[in-house]
Amino acid sequence: MQDKRPICAIATAPGQGAIGVVRVSAPEPDIITALAADILGPERRLVARKAAYGPFLAADAQPIDYGLALWFPAPHSYTGEHILELQGHGGPVVQQILLRRVLQVGAAFGIRLAEPGEFTERAFLNDKLDLVQAEAVADLIEASTEQAARSATRSLQGVFSRQIDDLAEQLLTLRMLVEATLDFPEEEIDFLQKADAAGRLARIDDTLRRLFDTAQSGARLRQGLNVVLTGAPNVGKSSLLNALAGAEVAIVTPIAGTTRDRVIEQISIEGVPINLIDTAGLRDTDDPVEKIGIQRTWAEIEKADVVVHLRAADELAREDENQTPGETGQGNGKKAVPAIIPDAGTGSSPEQRSGQGQTGSAPLDISRLEAAIEARVPASARRLTVINKIDLVEGEGQLASGMSDGAPHAQSSATEILRLSARTGQGIEAFRRKLLDIAGFQPGQEGVFIARERHLQALSEALSHLQNARQHVSLGDQALDLFAEELRLAHQALGRITGAVTADDLLGVIFSRFCIGK
Ligand code: GDP
Ligand code: ZN
Repeated sequence: MQDKRPICAIATAPGQGAIGVVRVSAPEPDIITALAADILGPERRLVARKAAYGPFLAADAQPIDYGLALWFPAPHSYTGEHILELQGHGGPVVQQILLRRVLQVGAAFGIRLAEPGEFTERAFLNDKLDLVQAEAVADLIEASTEQAARSATRSLQGVFSRQIDDLAEQLLTLRMLVEATLDFPEEEIDFLQKADAAGRLARIDDTLRRLFDTAQSGARLRQGLNVVLTGAPNVGKSSLLNALAGAEVAIVTPIAGTTRDRVIEQISIEGVPINLIDTAGLRDTDDPVEKIGIQRTWAEIEKADVVVHLRAADELAREDENQTPGETGQGNGKKAVPAIIPDAGTGSSPEQRSGQGQTGSAPLDISRLEAAIEARVPASARRLTVINKIDLVEGEGQLASGMSDGAPHAQSSATEILRLSARTGQGIEAFRRKLLDIAGFQPGQEGVFIARERHLQALSEALSHLQNARQHVSLGDQALDLFAEELRLAHQALGRITGAVTADDLLGVIFSRFCIGK
């Protein structure tokens, strides 16, 4: 099934660099011997895990480059196979020549170019890494913040896997008890009570829940928190974005959306990646380049975790003055934020507020745009209203941020209000902390490991099987086989995470560890 031919690849990043590495992995050592004889020449002797310097020879025995050869005999290598690394100068052309030379010499042994991730795949197949660790290798390489990198390393070290394995172990023990009981039905209730089946189940459930929470934070570190900034032109979206980015210099991922605005900016707050999405660039356009940026923006909006509606404090104050006194019934305090989003499907027509047409590259009407955004964000997204420019309004600085109660806002019940000034920086720290809080992080939080959507799905599947199991155990003995089945499914879901479980391994464990004659 598995294609076990020798593989090779340039292992270093494309482009110019100080060093470039061509890597070969092969299940049998004969190809390594051949490569050494033809490319390293007769003078150079390979010693396991010791660097050997010299020329890399072309077919005509002329040197292609000079560098180090490193040999890792199986099984003590990354892949668990025999590995040869040729470390030369990091020029793309010289690396290609060296790679072609390796392919040429290795042809007799069936060598081919490696698929992406294939070295790591072989490491997994040879039990050098489990699935979680193999994934962590990729996540470490892709990490966009320090926290994400540290967490990936933690997964790579096996922190996540060990917790999964521990849980799987506990589940297995419980399953053995239950399955053994199934064989002796007349004693089952007594037996399960003595074995504290319910207590064991509750403890497993508890641990699994905590693991799920940590994994969720870990997944967040991989994907980042998607924060969508909406609001009329000039409320300060770009300024807020800059204020947040400026507070902690971050890796920036500019996506050329419009000619003027950067659409998505990734910043890092305490090491948690935050993707800030400025919706100002969303408009009808015929420009193909702009269109790509706009599509990308919509795709990110569909994954929004937070939608921030920006308002400008000075404009709110002006709107207030135009209100008939007494109308709000709130006396003299600052009026709550008025609705800026038309109720979907009601008579309120966005065009009424818009004097502009929708052709060419005209900006979309803001209320229509916000309605379109609301229609696309997931139901789970949190809503924040940010009142910016509080420096322009007398007395606003003292107002604490908090929940809006009774505000006539479209999402009133779920909307929190924060007041800040992107210009003076007042309130920015509170906003940063709010985002971290939504992302599920406390400042300085330790012990998070990187995780993926796949892991979360398996964990939540395991959780729901445990929940079913709980119901069966409370129903009593008739449901014992169902109880056993739910435990098996939960166990299987966990096993899928590390790639450990195969369908048949259970029986062997039962017979080797459980004394049925007792
Ligand atoms: P956007 O169109 O929503 O991206 O708004 P900008 O960030 O471009 O800001 C529009 C204008 O408001 C600029 O002149 C900013 O300098 C100004 N501005 C933004 N935030 C603040 C603030 O907190 N206080 C004051 N006084 N001006 C601000
Ligand atoms: Zn802007």
